[in-house]
Amino acid sequence: MTQSRNLQRLQKRLLGDVGRAIGDYKMIEDGDTVLVCVSGGKDSYTLLSLLMTLQQRAPVKFRLIAMNLDQKQPGFPADILPAYFKSIGVDFRIEEQDTYSIVKEKIPEGKTTCSLCSRLRRGVIYRVAKELGCNKIALGHHRDDIVHTLFLNLLFAAKLKAMPPKLVTDDGAHIVIRPLAYASEADIAAFARGMEFPIIPCNLCGSQSNLQRQKIREMMADWDRRYPGRTEAVFTALQNVVPSHLADPALYDFAGLVAGTVPAAGEGDEVFDLPELPPLSDPRLAFRVDS
Ligand code: SF4
Repeated sequence: MTQSRNLQRLQKRLLGDVGRAIGDYKMIEDGDTVLVCVSGGKDSYTLLSLLMTLQQRAPVKFRLIAMNLDQKQPGFPADILPAYFKSIGVDFRIEEQDTYSIVKEKIPEGKTTCSLCSRLRRGVIYRVAKELGCNKIALGHHRDDIVHTLFLNLLFAAKLKAMPPKLVTDDGAHIVIRPLAYASEADIAAFARGMEFPIIPCNLCGSQSNLQRQKIREMMADWDRRYPGRTEAVFTALQNVVPSHLADPALYDFAGLVAGTVPAAGEGDEVFDLPELPPLSDPRLAFRVDS
């Protein structure tokens, strides 16, 4: 396919995002076999496409295996992904597992099915990773997903916790990586449109989308509309944590604080200052009180 200039620019930016995330978190190393989970949505198609491009260009050698879990939702077009994987020449595995029926049987009508569904899905993915000898599992979550998860935990679970770019699975057997951690959803959506990926609609299971997540999406979309760049700012904050200015004694030794030591930069008595404020050494600000 001849790519338009815009699409090439977009791909370059996304490849840069993915390359930096991989480098910053050492996501992929020489000799890795990476299982790339593809659901048929815009994010996972983009992930696979970018990883395949990087595979050709990167100095490290790694193997990619695409995987789709056919959960047997009614109406799932089972032929689309195998045909797509063949057309792009990637090794792949289609795993058929009727998690849909299990979820329908176990969860009462009207209740949210997503948490059981994703737990079952995770189990299948980890098993397939083992069977195929994959030491890494790549998921298509992006920067917006990570920020939304932070607010979900903050506002609905009273936890300061997001979604990490890299983690070890509960059984300790695999590393899960999120190479799109630095990529914006808007760029991914535009790239997926430009590439004309054969998108499979994500409402086949008939489940209502998670209402709390939907509320957070709307909240962040509103903030981004009124003050552009907020999602990016929140993500950057996740890489810029100051434990001494939170309130978790397990994270910071508040009990052991003693006078007579000078705190590290950013750990003093400033609570919030916009970065562009003039420095305090300015004599006109000598009596300024922090907010
Ligand atoms: S939306 Fe449907 S397929 Fe997706 S996690 Fe929820 S129940 Fe499972």
